Amino acid sequence: MIPYGRQSVGDLDVEAVTAVLRGDWLTTGPAVAAFEAELARRTGGVPCVSVSSGTAALHVAYAAAGVGAGDEVVMSPMTFVATAATAAQLGARVVFADVSDDVPVLDPGAAEAAVTSRTRAVTAVDYAGHPADYDALRKITDRGGQLLLSDAAHALGSSWHGVPVGALADLTTFSFFPTKNVTTAEGGAVAVSDPDLLERARAFRCHGLVRDTGRMRRPDEGGWHQEVHAFGLNYRLPDVLCALGMSQLERLEAFKRRRARLVERYDELLADVPGLRLPHVRPGADPMWHLYAVRVLDGRRREVYDRMRAAGVGVQVNYLPVYLHPVFEDLGYRRGLCPAAEEFYDEQLSLPLFPGLSDSDQDQVVDALRGILI
Ligand SMILES: *Cc1c(COP(=O)(O)O)cnc(C)c1O
Repeated sequence: MIPYGRQSVGDLDVEAVTAVLRGDWLTTGPAVAAFEAELARRTGGVPCVSVSSGTAALHVAYAAAGVGAGDEVVMSPMTFVATAATAAQLGARVVFADVSDDVPVLDPGAAEAAVTSRTRAVTAVDYAGHPADYDALRKITDRGGQLLLSDAAHALGSSWHGVPVGALADLTTFSFFPTKNVTTAEGGAVAVSDPDLLERARAFRCHGLVRDTGRMRRPDEGGWHQEVHAFGLNYRLPDVLCALGMSQLERLEAFKRRRARLVERYDELLADVPGLRLPHVRPGADPMWHLYAVRVLDGRRREVYDRMRAAGVGVQVNYLPVYLHPVFEDLGYRRGLCPAAEEFYDEQLSLPLFPGLSDSDQDQVVDALRGILI
């Protein structure tokens, strides 16, 4: 089976990890700060806090933003459940606003209509690596005083009108799961420039521990003393995995080029296939493509999915609109809430896309699809 996504781990990655395994630090050591500094070079200099997953990154970002009971968070439903689950876990009410038709990212008009006096944050999702419209979203959050969040689990390496993802929102989250643009096995990060939000994100990652005597309530307790002023969790990304991340980041540009080339080939090879709608790119977007997401028209998505799988092509569907998960249905959310997202879901199919996909494997994917649709 040709998978829809796959990590690209080479000898240099293995050497980087084994070097740390043989050293003095397994968890928080020098590779953590080094990885965060390297990441910040890809986010336009915005400081990054590494964490143990993309889900942890979202939890940290919402916690740093002060999201809690009584708050609403407006977000796109065309995402993995974690974008919403983490806000719900903090007690917030999730308000889903629809996506646009050309690119399935948060529609600024829908987001604006969903914002109320209770909205604390608006979360965009850079679906497939294509940045949301951060200029329009920023205008809305500036007017209403909300924080703008970006779930950029797909989009490390993308930019919008020349500004790298990571520098477009108040808080941006990344995932380093194996199928994502770079991997640390499990891992993630939050990019945040405001010093107070940054401090809160760092604290939440490590139990909320305060170690700076200047900020302590009991500064004279003794050299061992550390204290907690606000609850946090253990979301640290170990040194071993930060070393893998460092090594992976060195290939980010090469990964981006290979993904772009494969997207270009799909665009060419599928241009004349009937019953398909290929991904659109907005002016100003420079995506690092995480997914190649086509739309299968005429109600044939289920059939095409099953037949592609039977032909040994591991296509995927990304995603069930989040509010159709039973956990949200049980809270009263219903089909019909975001028609554009639902229509997209009904037609969506992710074709294999990863740096190690060869041209001949890609040709096999294209032939299988052509064979079904032509
Ligand atoms: C992968 C992903 C996450 C979660 O990241 P993990 O590292 O798997 O916890 C969140 N949001 C989106 C859009 C994702 O694709």
